[in-house]
Amino acid sequence: MGGRTSNELKTVLKFKLANTDLQVKFQKAVVSQMLNKGKSHYPNEFGGILIGRYDEIRKVAYIHYIVNPKHFKASPAFFQRETKGLEQKLIDLHKQTPSLYYLGEWHTHPNGSTSPSTTDINTLITLSKSEQVSIDNPLMLIIGLSPSKINFGLYIYLDQKIQKYEQQH
Ligand SMILES: [Zn+2]
Repeated sequence: MGGRTSNELKTVLKFKLANTDLQVKFQKAVVSQMLNKGKSHYPNEFGGILIGRYDEIRKVAYIHYIVNPKHFKASPAFFQRETKGLEQKLIDLHKQTPSLYYLGEWHTHPNGSTSPSTTDINTLITLSKSEQVSIDNPLMLIIGLSPSKINFGLYIYLDQKIQKYEQQH
């Protein structure tokens, strides 16, 4: 098999890291799901994990799914998911063909900016060092969500620092 799947062609949200050839592409259905979930929990924050895979040369990440946490704590300026209940889902996704992996986190900032908070920065650093999730360069999508506006901010922990992707229109 190999080649592109139809999922990969229906991307609607694309990012590129300046001065690199790293890209991240979100499938249309994934964006709809995140926005629906975010709106239904508004004005509290909500989020979950990003599932997908990199292309053969590890330059382009395709986000195929989100997995919603079963247990979480949230307020208008706070969100924390628990890992409980997610492990088996990740094992199942890994067994699929093609294998899908944990690539990072997403959450909303209701009426807020798409900049990472101190907590968000610490989360990314912790994830890159975590032995539970085997990912050295975790992604974090932050969705600034208000009744009239939606903005996206995508970050990666790379070369020992948080770097911001540029959204491609
Ligand atoms: Zn945040």
